Amino acid sequence: MYFIDGKHAKVELRSQQEIDGIIEKLVEAGFRPTLRQASHALLNAIGIDAGLSSAVCSDMMRSIMTEQRFHISKYRSLPRERPIGDIFCQDDSLLMVQPDRSMLVVCEIRPHGTNSRLEVFANTIYEAAKASLDGRRLRGMSFDWTPLPVHYYDEYGHFHHSAARRESNLAMKPAHMTPQEIESSRLLIEPNYRESLKRLVQVGKARAVDAKHDTDPGTMDLLIERGLLRKEFLVRCRMDSSTLCTVESREELESGFGERLRCPNCGRTFNKELLQEVYVPTSHAKSLINGSHWMTVWITDALIKSGVDKNSIYWGATAGEDEIDIIAEIHGQKVFFELKDREFGLGDAYPFNSRMQRYGADGGVIVSTERVAEEVKQFLNEQQALPILPIEGTEEVDSTLSSFVNRLSKAMAVRLAGKLFMLVELNIEAIVRAWIDGREAKVV
Ligand SMILES: [Zn+2]
Repeated sequence: MYFIDGKHAKVELRSQQEIDGIIEKLVEAGFRPTLRQASHALLNAIGIDAGLSSAVCSDMMRSIMTEQRFHISKYRSLPRERPIGDIFCQDDSLLMVQPDRSMLVVCEIRPHGTNSRLEVFANTIYEAAKASLDGRRLRGMSFDWTPLPVHYYDEYGHFHHSAARRESNLAMKPAHMTPQEIESSRLLIEPNYRESLKRLVQVGKARAVDAKHDTDPGTMDLLIERGLLRKEFLVRCRMDSSTLCTVESREELESGFGERLRCPNCGRTFNKELLQEVYVPTSHAKSLINGSHWMTVWITDALIKSGVDKNSIYWGATAGEDEIDIIAEIHGQKVFFELKDREFGLGDAYPFNSRMQRYGADGGVIVSTERVAEEVKQFLNEQQALPILPIEGTEEVDSTLSSFVNRLSKAMAVRLAGKLFMLVELNIEAIVRAWIDGREAKVV
């Protein structure tokens, strides 16, 4: 997942020289301005010895990288010169600064798991402005950085409002899970453990001999160790096999009431009767198996590992009869999840698709522990409106979700960068895309 963050301040830069002066100070502070470096390298290649912070270098950047001079008439109401900022690749993040009319905007794109440098960057820009602009200009500016308005995050400013309105009648619960639930859900990915436990939850309890007959003893032992099953002992009459009582352990019978109480049928003391070991699913196990809740826990954990903020994940969103297993918000994009611990058929696809439309999803993910039916895949291909990603089986879920989240956040990062430099008609998307692809290649 790539995080995208931005701030803006009421700082109106009126000329290219003003932003050039600020960037010159950033260079002195150790920042490397990608666009100016490219322009500098180009000048150097044709034998022109111009400094990185020179006007010649800045002019060349404007001439070769933007289309400003050809399209001036489109923005007649704007000043003729629209100053160009820069983009900085620092450690593992991309930082950008760009004047936008009466504002100065700073942005950061970084992979999850790295610390944000945006605050430091914004402060450095303030220091750079103090060092490069004259006092009278500075007095009219306010370097109070505030979060970027929401319209930056989407091409269509109306999107967020309409999505919020459509979802107002959807009751959403925050995701909540314990480390034990996560660990158990990971264990239940194995069909062996899952099927054994499902059978036991269905019948309530089973004799150990039978349970061990259905699966290997190791499976039961691990389910017990993880608190999904517990052992119990039935005391049964040796004569007619009726159940006399239940005890937690053999030891319980050896002292006290085991010697005192007698069977009403055959007259034996309880400790002389038949002791039968049974397995009982714990409430922890039942809560995970019922409604395939373990899948919700598992997919939520996989999303969090991909970098999605836990606070952006909601469970069991309902409206009337409709229920959505998981809703994850990734950079304002609402992704709906439908989870099935069985084959996903066409009868599942239609209602999911209509719920997505009704509650304003931007995309969907289907997870089936078995397979997604061919006719569903065909139906999904025919669906032009909303993209739905089908995931079959359990093995590829983590990696598929991780690359899905990366792809989605990359698209948003590229879009935001594009938006930021749109006013100066500079195509920055290719740089952001190449930077992310380069990182991914290194990580893999
Ligand atoms: Zn008896």
